[in-house]
Amino acid sequence: MKVLAASLFITPFLTSFVLLGKVPASLVVTPELPTSTFHWSSAGKNPTLTEKEKYKGGIYAGYSDAELTPLLLQEAMDQWNNVRGSFLKFELKTETTEIGLNKSDNTNNIIVEKVPSASTAAYASPEKGDSSANITDCDVVINDTKVTVKSFLETVTHELGHCVGLGHPHTNYGAIMSYSRGGSSYRLSADDKAGVIYLYPDPNYVSEPPTELIGCGVIHGAKQFESAGLWLYAALCLPVFFGLYRRKSR
Ligand SMILES: [Zn+2]
Repeated sequence: MKVLAASLFITPFLTSFVLLGKVPASLVVTPELPTSTFHWSSAGKNPTLTEKEKYKGGIYAGYSDAELTPLLLQEAMDQWNNVRGSFLKFELKTETTEIGLNKSDNTNNIIVEKVPSASTAAYASPEKGDSSANITDCDVVINDTKVTVKSFLETVTHELGHCVGLGHPHTNYGAIMSYSRGGSSYRLSADDKAGVIYLYPDPNYVSEPPTELIGCGVIHGAKQFESAGLWLYAALCLPVFFGLYRRKSR
């Protein structure tokens, strides 16, 4: 019983996102200048996209790979942009000239090319420049291969998460940042959202008590945890815990 009681008070503080290093590293953005620009070139390669008809009810089924790819990149960015409590905003800039990889030009590029390992769908290179706390350059390389729209979205959203400053959690396979994802969705899980809120806390949101409770353990924006959250948590989760306890003791 003691363990149960203790878990009630400990679990609201748990979030299972993982940072890139011991020192939290984040993109060089501020609430006043929240935009991190990623460059994409219409002169470069595109992935070979399949199952276009399954995406958004088939409205893009007739689009070419070149037309659809930047829309999908924007969609992946929007997953990170639309997190309530985080100020970070990704922006996509389409260039007409070719762009390449340069880890020290302080420019974030997304390119498609053959990667050395066939099992690698993509990789991101978050580079820490002058300070270990700053990600000053993050290039994303996507393997030049055949891929479904859904899988492409999931891959790009995951790689952008590394540019956000997040690593691989090992406790939640539903997280977009997880190593072995179920492949069911390219949407962020509550843990992914907690990670981006932790690194880019929106000052306009911090004073608000948490309003969203996911399951019985993870609260959006654990940093902003207040007593109101604990009562909500207790009210929602006590019946679950007592139900489990009674079942066990039968
Ligand atoms: Zn990864």
